[in-house]
Amino acid sequence: MRQRATLLPSPYFYNHGDHQQMTRSPIMTATCSCGGVELKAFGGPIVSSVCYCEDCQKGADQIEALPNAVTVRDPDGGTAYILYRKDRIECSKGAELLRRYKLKETSVTNRVVATCCNSAMFMNFDKGPHWVSAYRARFHGELPPLQLRICTKFIPDGVVLADDLPSYRGYPPGLIVKLLASRVAMLLGR
Ligand SMILES: [Zn+2]
Ligand SMILES: [Zn+2]
Repeated sequence: MRQRATLLPSPYFYNHGDHQQMTRSPIMTATCSCGGVELKAFGGPIVSSVCYCEDCQKGADQIEALPNAVTVRDPDGGTAYILYRKDRIECSKGAELLRRYKLKETSVTNRVVATCCNSAMFMNFDKGPHWVSAYRARFHGELPPLQLRICTKFIPDGVVLADDLPSYRGYPPGLIVKLLASRVAMLLGR
């Protein structure tokens, strides 16, 4: 257990001290492009979504400008995420290589990059929300299907979205409900 604690460095991950959460299946693995950093996620995600908001686009600009960075966005300007409760995702390798980027000094949102190869790994918060948005492109194996596109009012000029998924101009109520329900489950230790 002692070793696990070192793999969950504050403030990147939530150290819940409950090993039970970490044995849930499926276990999904995400790695940076060079393999130096690895994340493991346990159990089903809260949601899989593509975000087009201004912050995600600015965040992608910031990361994609780093040397040899891996592309963060899809060709249509969206960034695909898999959202996990923060007690169900951990850095299993290379935590010391992670670095936080903020859009502004005062932002509570962090976009966390594997500095070995400048791959965007996940987005989290200094405080508040109980989830981690992991960059979907970094995962391997059979990925949970994408469920929705959000904040599409910010899509870049000239982009026509595919109509394969429900799209919302902002944050739809169904998404808020999923996030709240996951918070309740987490508080109840389920
Ligand atoms: Zn790497
Ligand atoms: Zn966004």
